[in-house]
Amino acid sequence: MLPISSISTSFLDWPSDEHAAILFIAGCGHHCRGCQSPVLQDPSAGRMLEVEEGLVDFIYDYCVRNRTRNLVLSGGDPLSYPEDVQRLMDMLKDKDPDMRFCIYTGFDYEAASAMVHGYDFIKCGRYVMESARPSSKDDDRMVLASPNQRMYDGSGRCLSRDGVVDLRRAARPTGSLKRNGSITGES
Ligand code: SF4
Repeated sequence: MLPISSISTSFLDWPSDEHAAILFIAGCGHHCRGCQSPVLQDPSAGRMLEVEEGLVDFIYDYCVRNRTRNLVLSGGDPLSYPEDVQRLMDMLKDKDPDMRFCIYTGFDYEAASAMVHGYDFIKCGRYVMESARPSSKDDDRMVLASPNQRMYDGSGRCLSRDGVVDLRRAARPTGSLKRNGSITGES
């Protein structure tokens, strides 16, 4: 089950010039000082929903209505529930192979990439208030909330430096790393 808080659309959170749907999943154990979503640290801020066809249809229909196949999984920290998040991505991908995913997590890449696979992008790292700045996105770059945070593509390529994502590199994903270590979509 996943404690779903809300779903909306975003132009800021997908690492390219595209927009995305963004799903907020409540619950996070990182307790970063200055967290911008303190309410979503508590799993009870979401409604507990089974990851089954009804939820998948709802999320997929929302994406279609908003003319996107990009889904950001944010929170909270979605990787508080890695098995359910994996199941959700797998079911959405089965429904439409064009679905793509970007996970926002407070875990570092080593830990996060051991928990889930099949995402297209993953933003890793806790929020560090002392070095934080406003996040933003323009045609060429995306500024993450704190410089320690990193954006990776699905093959494990780091797309950021000092918390700034080069969107020209991000626009050329090399594929997704599968559990067995091979890469899908690579020519
Ligand atoms: S990982 Fe995100 S949601 Fe969790 S405490 Fe840190 S800033 Fe808040």
